[in-house]
Amino acid sequence: MMEKESKTTSCRYCKLEVEKGERRCPHCGTLNPSMGVKQSLIWTVSAIVMLYLASYIIGYFKAS
Ligand SMILES: [Zn+2]
Repeated sequence: MMEKESKTTSCRYCKLEVEKGERRCPHCGTLNPSMGVKQSLIWTVSAIVMLYLASYIIGYFKAS
């Protein structure tokens, strides 16, 4: 069925079937298994940028 096809995807690590949006792979325990490597890399980079900006802003307010 097409419906089942859209609800599941393969884990980026073990390639086994996992539900889309699953936070952890039930087979190998990888976090965000439905998220592609590229996508997770973008998330990591943006998280670092956000943290950097936050610390910069906090430092700015502390200095003034
Ligand atoms: Zn897996």
